[in-house]
Parts: sequence; C-alpha cells; structure tokens
Amino acid sequence: MLTKAQQLLKEYYGFDEFRPGQQEVIEQLLQQQNALAIMPTGGGKSLCYQIPGLTMNGTAVIVSPLISLMKDQVDALASLGIPATYINSSLSNEEQQHRLHMLREGRYKFLYVAPERFEQPAFIETLKNISISLLAFDEAHCISQWGHDFRPSYRSIVPTLKKIPSIPVIVALTATATDEVIQDIQRLLHIQDQQVTNTGFARENLSFHLLKGRDKQAFILEYVEQRKQESGIIYATTRKQVDQLYNYLRSRGFAVAKYHAGLSEQDRKQAQNAFIQEEKSIMVATNAFGMGIDKSNVRYVIHYAMPMNIESYYQEAGRAGRDGEPSDCLLLFSGQDIQLQKFLIEQSLMDEEKKVNEYKKLQAMINYCHTHSCLQTFILHYFNDFSTSEDCGRCTNCTSDLERKDMTTEAQMVLSCVKRMGERFGAGMTAKVLKGSKDKKVNSFQLNKLTTYGIMSKHTEKEITNFIHFLVAEDILSAGDQRFPTLKLTKKAAAVLKGQKQVWMQVGNIELSESTDYDT
Ligand code: ADP
Repeated sequence: MLTKAQQLLKEYYGFDEFRPGQQEVIEQLLQQQNALAIMPTGGGKSLCYQIPGLTMNGTAVIVSPLISLMKDQVDALASLGIPATYINSSLSNEEQQHRLHMLREGRYKFLYVAPERFEQPAFIETLKNISISLLAFDEAHCISQWGHDFRPSYRSIVPTLKKIPSIPVIVALTATATDEVIQDIQRLLHIQDQQVTNTGFARENLSFHLLKGRDKQAFILEYVEQRKQESGIIYATTRKQVDQLYNYLRSRGFAVAKYHAGLSEQDRKQAQNAFIQEEKSIMVATNAFGMGIDKSNVRYVIHYAMPMNIESYYQEAGRAGRDGEPSDCLLLFSGQDIQLQKFLIEQSLMDEEKKVNEYKKLQAMINYCHTHSCLQTFILHYFNDFSTSEDCGRCTNCTSDLERKDMTTEAQMVLSCVKRMGERFGAGMTAKVLKGSKDKKVNSFQLNKLTTYGIMSKHTEKEITNFIHFLVAEDILSAGDQRFPTLKLTKKAAAVLKGQKQVWMQVGNIELSESTDYDT
C-alpha cells in the first residue's frame, strides 16, 4: 500500500521513490512535529515541505533569502497545477496588494517570501488571519550568526513568530551547516534532536582537486581550452581579480561573463542570464554570484584563490553538478591567499567574537589546503559527517601517484621542539629553531640553547615550515588561529611522540619543493 506521501510523489512529480531523508521529514511534518532537514545540494529539499504542504489544509509559507529563485519555484509548482505565488519587492505595490488579497482568500497552497517581509505589520496581520499549513525556512543556515551567510532579517523573524499562533509546524532546510549552526537553528526554532534529519553532505559526483604552486592563469587557460562546450564558474576573491581574469579569457576568445557587486544590477542580470541560457559558457565571479542560481549542468567550479572558510567553499564548489553528472571542483592555492583572507577579516566590521570565529574557520580552510588525506572526507569531517568511512577515490589526494614516505621521526623532531619552545611560537619561528637559524629573535629568546636547535638542519626552512603546515592539517599540531599563531600539541601528537602512531606523507608533493610564500 502506498502512503499518501508516496501517492503524491507519483501523482504530482512522477517520481517512484523518495530520496534519502525525504520521507522522514515529510512524516514528521504530517505529525505536526517541527523538523530540520540537512541534505546536500540537489538532495531534494523542496519536496520535504511541498508534499506536506499539498496534503495539509491552508497555505504553506516558505521564507527564502533567494528572491531570484522564488519565481522559478513558483513557476515549477504552477506547471504541476499547484496554486503558488511569491510576494517580494520585485513586484509593484498594486501587485503585492492583489496577491495579499488572494492570500487572504486562501487561494494559494504555497507562498514564497523574503525574510524582510516579516518586518511589515500588515503582512503579520494577514498571516494571523489565514489558515497556514506550515512555515518553511529555506537556506536555514542564514538564520544563525555562526553561519557563513548570516542574515539578521532572517533571525529577527524568530521573536515575531510568537505573534502568529496559527503556524502549526515549522521546517528548516539547509545544505550547509556546522554543528554550531545546527544547534542554533534547533534552539531558535524549537526543533528537538530526534526531529533532525541529516543525510550527510557527500556528493558522489564531485571530484575535488587542489593545485598548488601553479601559474594560475596558465592553468585556467589550459583547463577551459579543453572544455569549450561545458559550463563552468570561476570564483575569484576580489572584484579586481574578476575583472582581470575576465579580460584575460575574453581577449583569448572565450565566451565569458562576469559578475560582482561593483556592476550595475542590469549588468549583473544580463551576465547571469547569458550564463544560464548558455550564451556564455564561463562565469567569472566573486562570491556575490551563485545564491539562487539554479543551473544544474555546471561541469566545473574553479576557485582562483582559497576562499575564507570551508562552508563557503563547499557551497560554492557544490554549484557544480547539481544534475548528478560527474563534475570537477578545483581550488588553486597559493600562500598569498592566506594573507588576503586575513586582511579581509581584519578590515571587516565584525565584532571581536565573530572575528575570532572567522580566524578559526580560516584555519580549517588552510588545513584543507595542506592535508594529504581524502579531500572529500576532510570536508565531510569538518561538518561532522562521519557517515561514510571510505575515501572518495576521485580527489587529488586519492588519485595521487606520489610515493608515501614514513615521516614519523621528522614529526617527532618537530613535536619535541614545539614542546621545548613552550608551545608559545608559530610555524615560522619553530622552523628557524629546527633549522638552526642564526636569526636574532631565536637568540633573544634563547631558543638556540634548546636540544632541538638545528636537528633538522639538512632541510630548508621552507621545507620545515611546509612540513609543520602538514602536521597542522593532519591535526597532529594545532595552530591557534591566524592572528595569534601558536603551535600546540594535540592528542594525536602524544601518540606520535610515544611511537604509537606513524606519520605518512606524500613526498615529491609540489608544496615541498616549490615556493610557498607565506609564513605563520
Ligand atoms: P535541493 O533544494 O535540495 O538542492 P531540489 O529540491 O531542488 O534540491 O531537488 C533537486 C532535483 O531533484 C529536482 O530536480 C527535483 O525534482 C529532483 N528530485 C527531488 N526529489 C526526488 C525524488 N524523490 N526522486 C527523483 N528526483 C527527485
């Protein structure tokens, strides 16, 4: 016997089976229990609130920060014969009034609105007086100030909810959330642990690649040259980088568009449409581009530089391959990327607590750029997703044919040096001591008297620094944060020092031989 939800799935959408997690969330909502759904991009989050919305009485209200996507969602529902609408600032006042009127008459099964709408008393009055089936928070991570895309207007809905007792049940949906964010969402929206459905974040069709020490432009040229028929996004950190890269590719005859917040709204719209409609195959953009872009056949996402944290990276990279086809996510890393991100945090208007948190997240991103473990696994573990035990077999590290060497002895040298230095210094200073540098600072702290002074003298200082970064990435050392970098031993370090844990490293890796121009 098919359940009602399965019947609707077949009848409206033509699908035979639920994707992982969908049924749980739907059943919870049907039992009037709040729910939080954490599913990867393309995992089918919309159905989780649409099916309950179809069966329950009244109008489902969906809050979404993505004004650009509302129309698409509404059109998609309308094409299935489901009455739906959106109300946002893109409509004339008259049209907004008309839709509010229709809403009061109970004509819609689904209503999409931006968070700001809840700041309008007239809208709240309307909600109080209509029958509501459920309230959905799409992109729910925006509600948490620990999220990488915090929207204060989103959070300020929470106290307003008390004024609308007619909301029977709430569902929050997101594809990107750290533990902190998940807890924040649960607390704000009263969602119990057993009402959280987390299908994990893994995207089987994505291959993650990390490239270091390359001529970035030359690499991109070669890469896109071979993929002229495919769509791809290239993310750069600053508008200037976008402009440069755009000119570079355009002058070489590529069909390229650009997008950043310094362009007029009209230019941005045009660029976006040209990309979506495949007139331009390459989009060069800052992170201003992407939220709400529903283009499923993006075959690659290249990050021209390291982004500020893993949440942003995974979300941006995750715009590749929403159709489930194999796609590439490439990150071109260089040492300057770290300096740029530090600068951006420093000169931002964030309060102190938030800055400290951003530095912590930046460190995790830097670790991603230095790990020799599976890149996908690294990301999943960052999100506390331990549901897949196997490495992806597709990323740079999984497919590397570099030799792996036992570096346990070298690791022990570094760790005992860090310990003797009182866990008070960063990687640069530690490397100097291990190298046996005559640097004045080393002498002034009397670090040249340590027994570990000069014990790695056959390596260059740069090699030692890189090795320390690797140990940080593998969680054998912790680096403090980028502002106050002080190396400390972790639990794993104790095991390495006691000889209970070996340290293996890919050697011949470009980071050991090529210049990495940073020092922490
Ligand atoms: P998300 O919001 O999680 O990124 P969507 O809700 O946009 O994902 O769904 C992604 C795609 O998957 C859509 O094209 C949707 O129609 C399809 N989809 C969702 N659920 C199912 C299902 N149970 N079976 C087959 N396709 C599905």
